[in-house]
Amino acid sequence: MSAFDALLPKIGVNITQFSLIHALMAGFYDGVFPAPQVLAKGDFGLGCGHALNGELVFVDGQIFRCTSDGSVSPADESELIPFAEVVNFDPSIRVPIGAAEGAPAAFDGGPDGSPVTRDQFESLVGGIMPSPNMFYAIRVDGVFDRMRVREPIRQHHPFRPLVEVMQTQNESELGRTSGSLVGFWAPQIYQGVSVAGFHLHYLDDDRAVGGHSLEYSIESATLSMQAISSLTLRLPHTDEFATADFTQADADLAIRRVESSRS
Ligand SMILES: [Zn+2]
Repeated sequence: MSAFDALLPKIGVNITQFSLIHALMAGFYDGVFPAPQVLAKGDFGLGCGHALNGELVFVDGQIFRCTSDGSVSPADESELIPFAEVVNFDPSIRVPIGAAEGAPAAFDGGPDGSPVTRDQFESLVGGIMPSPNMFYAIRVDGVFDRMRVREPIRQHHPFRPLVEVMQTQNESELGRTSGSLVGFWAPQIYQGVSVAGFHLHYLDDDRAVGGHSLEYSIESATLSMQAISSLTLRLPHTDEFATADFTQADADLAIRRVESSRS
């Protein structure tokens, strides 16, 4: 028995994903799914705004939009969402990290009290996953020594592919900040459907800054995690999607560049 056996998935815990990363890569940025429909499937997760107007963070049943001007605003009920992944978050483990009281030795950062780097964090989380072949919802609440985020710039028709669009994304270094990382681990074989590996968005406690996290280090925080063994995929019900040609999609490298890159 390990302390992390609680992380084994429970039957019925479902992640609902709206649209595909492949579709985003191909420029399907028009919002299709009404916000209330997405929230009905989960109170926690991430996504992007209509026409790439910002990164979305779903936290405690509310949707926040982090836009390229560096601001954050609540998304209202009329929002149409092109892409989102949500779950009803009910974590089965909570682990202190970094300088947080009670952090297990493996989770307490460097010997000199230095923060837990993104690489260290990802390998620690990988180490407690009972299986890399499940999805996990991941939330980290606390103080971050540094946080680098990006937000896409709102697009207008005709939409260009995501790889091109992201060459002009807004990136900002937030410095020391207190808030939450919100997102998922997805197994490698879902690259293209979802984002393989870790995909985390950030929102600060004041709901004033945030975005897709590129780089960070954790000073003192609590990690909460939930294992998920069921995936519902909702495809866009539009003519544009129905007639799109995804056979040329060779997106692995492009997705890594757009969703997993550090700069
Ligand atoms: Zn993202």
